[in-house]
Amino acid sequence: MFGVVGCGSVVSAGCATADGREGFAPTDPTGGGEGGGDGAGGSGVAAKPDQPGCAQDAYTETLPTSASLSALAFSPANANDYLLGALELRYPLGKAIVEGGLTSSLAKTQGNCIDRFLSNKSTAAVVLRQATTVVHECGHFYDLGEASGGDATYVIRPDELTFTCKSGDTTSRGGKTFARSLIRKDAHYAKRKACPAGTAARGCDMYAEVYLDGSSTDAKFDSGDQGYSFVLEEAAQYVNSLATALAFEDSYTGTKASERDGILTFLWYIERYLAMARADYPAAYALLSEDPCWRQATLSVWDRGWFYLRATEGLSNLGIDDAAIEPLVTDPELTAEIDALRELECK
Ligand SMILES: [Zn+2]
Repeated sequence: MFGVVGCGSVVSAGCATADGREGFAPTDPTGGGEGGGDGAGGSGVAAKPDQPGCAQDAYTETLPTSASLSALAFSPANANDYLLGALELRYPLGKAIVEGGLTSSLAKTQGNCIDRFLSNKSTAAVVLRQATTVVHECGHFYDLGEASGGDATYVIRPDELTFTCKSGDTTSRGGKTFARSLIRKDAHYAKRKACPAGTAARGCDMYAEVYLDGSSTDAKFDSGDQGYSFVLEEAAQYVNSLATALAFEDSYTGTKASERDGILTFLWYIERYLAMARADYPAAYALLSEDPCWRQATLSVWDRGWFYLRATEGLSNLGIDDAAIEPLVTDPELTAEIDALRELECK
């Protein structure tokens, strides 16, 4: 079943989460991520682990554990606390992100992000399977609540790695970039076209109809009308999704989820967006390549994404069509876009 968890309603500038979860091709074998998964490196610039955006494959943070949850008591009435307790035991960073969402200024108008996105509180196992969605969506609450005006905030690791960058939305929305839906017009689109709306299948892009939809010139708001700042916001949260899935990987037994597919797809979108900006939208490219904030934020999300892709390599329950997406992301023509930012930022 293809579920679109409605984040688009959080704020007009919000997001949506495309998840192929329960029931999606559960019997399909997946090749998982064979290959090196070294997409973070290769720029020819030496890694500088302590410099934001320059860590490359040396990027590191505390990985989730598989600590026992047996000391936690579950009941549907305390499901929120159970989830927070489980995150504290296995993935404290995820807990901090959820708490940032709970205390976000967005919560005043949009409500409690756990209650909004933890739709089924019936059993402990079901709750843990939704942890990725909760951390992802509370991560949006956190970031959107921290941002003001036309700024975009990315809380990668609270108190340690946070960016607030300017003018990243589209020109029609007060920024300097272009609608993300426009990357559907590039030459890479044909390699993995959008799945028909409301469907998910191998060999097509099930995220495109959610995130790259609509027309950038009509009057109707679509998710795809948002600019680069929201491409990066979505990518940042798909890293959190994958990290959280790793924390609760034991609850994915016998099923498959699109956790690796999500971040791989968004790393591909980042590359394609940068390529299109460089070729066709000089003002947007000037912003994204010349502003250290955008360079560092982009490179940090990229490096962190690969950190978790390497950490989940071979965990076949956490990917559906990830083996098909990964070569698109590691296409040297596209990784050159990341390398170009790396040169500018880290040389
Ligand atoms: Zn999202």
